[in-house]
Parts: sequence; structure tokens; C-alpha cells
Amino acid sequence: MTDAIFAEPGPLAFIADVAILLALIYPANLIAYFGMGFALLRINDTHPDRRIQKRRDGLRRAIPEMKESCVSILVTSTLLALALTLQGHGLTLWTPWSGILGVLAGTALMVVGYDTYYYFAHRALHTKALYRFHQWHHRSVAPTAWSSDSQSVGETVLIQSFQVIAAVLLPIPAWALILHRVYDHVNGQLGHVGYEYFADRTTRFPSPLVCTTYHDLHHEKFRWNFGNYFSFWDRVMGTLEPDYDARVAAMDPKNDARPAE
Ligand SMILES: [Zn+2]
Ligand SMILES: [Zn+2]
Repeated sequence: MTDAIFAEPGPLAFIADVAILLALIYPANLIAYFGMGFALLRINDTHPDRRIQKRRDGLRRAIPEMKESCVSILVTSTLLALALTLQGHGLTLWTPWSGILGVLAGTALMVVGYDTYYYFAHRALHTKALYRFHQWHHRSVAPTAWSSDSQSVGETVLIQSFQVIAAVLLPIPAWALILHRVYDHVNGQLGHVGYEYFADRTTRFPSPLVCTTYHDLHHEKFRWNFGNYFSFWDRVMGTLEPDYDARVAAMDPKNDARPAE
């Protein structure tokens, strides 16, 4: 795929390729953000009982969050365009894996690698030295679908640079970079939606998967749950919110042991 798209060598062709890819990726990501955001609001309206923080109205911050998200999505899209162009021009350490198996293995490596990178970068953002880059995201105490990309440019560069680092240092195919970006976007908006639809036995111990309550608790209580896709690093490092598993068990509709309402 990449040979056909990135035919011309040289710095001008490199910049032109980044610009062309950005012109495709940025509008697609904006459509995903607003399309999924409005769809989730409609679903939430029909399930008021599933609201996680019942006394806080996170939607009061919708407009500033949307504005900030348009900027941070531009940064994220630029970094993906840069990662794809570096790969297309052969400026990476390895030849990317090929075939469907290569794409699947590359996507899995991106998911596991990004979750690890995210956990430790997020811990660093909570230190005194770096918190000024992260404080905008924490203005949303009760997150909504508009909060997922609402973060400063500095934070977005730190977190989303993983796309470029992975493309250069690992044999990740282009389609795996794209699939991971889609997965990261969907996971981000579902993780900030403020309503719980996924609490069941697959999102509590011993499973490493998480439901919306996991990151919602990070916004509400601030000191816990620094991971992204999995609770693995929080469990290993002792930063999992102490009541998380019990709360998920209590919300699980198939859990016979949960207290009567
Ligand atoms: Zn945080
Ligand atoms: Zn968040």
C-alpha cells in the first residue's frame, strides 16, 4: 500500500505527504468525534438510570470542551499523518510486518504498548512539574463524550507521540496504526461518556478490561486509575481505586450477589 502512495522521495514530497494525509485524517476524526458524541448523548437520554455521577452536570462544559478537542484532534491527526509518512518514506528501523496477520499482530502490539506508555506518561502528568499540561483535562470532574479529546496541546503531544515512536521503533504496519487510532478514539469517548453500559464480569477482577466507571473514577477522585485500555498497570502499581471491582460487581445486571435496589 505504502509504495503506491509515497512514490516521490525528498523533503518537499515528505511535507506534501504529511499535508495530504492530514487533510484526510483530521476531517475523518472530527466526524467520528461529533458523530459518536451526539449519538452517545441520545442513548444517554434514554437511560438516565445509568448515569455515574448523578449530582454533577458535566455537559455545562460542552462548548469549551468541543473547542479544545478540535485543536487536540488536529495535533493527534498530525502525529498519525507524520507516523504514516515516516513509514511510507522508509524512515523507520524495520520493514513493517505484512499481511493480515501482520496487521493483527501490529494492532495488538499498539494496544498493549500504548496502554503501558499511557499509564506512565499519565502518572508523570500528575507530578508537580507537568500537571500544568494536564489540568485542563481535569476541569471536567464529571466527564462526558465531549471530554475525551479535551486536553492541552502539551498533553496531546506527549501522549499521542507514541504513534510516531511506535512507527519508527517497531515493525507496525500502516493499517495497524490506523486501526489503533480508531480503537483509541472509540475507547476514549466510551470511557468518558458518564453513563455505565459495560459493567459485567469481563470488566472487573480477574479480567484486565475496564468499563466506563474506571476512568470516570479518575476524574471524580483524581488519585486512582491512571491506565487507559486495561487495569493491569494500576493493579501492579497499587493505584487501582480500592472500590472499583466492588462497584462494577454491584452494577453488573447478571451478578446474583449484588445488593437489592
Ligand atoms: Zn489524570
Ligand atoms: Zn479523562
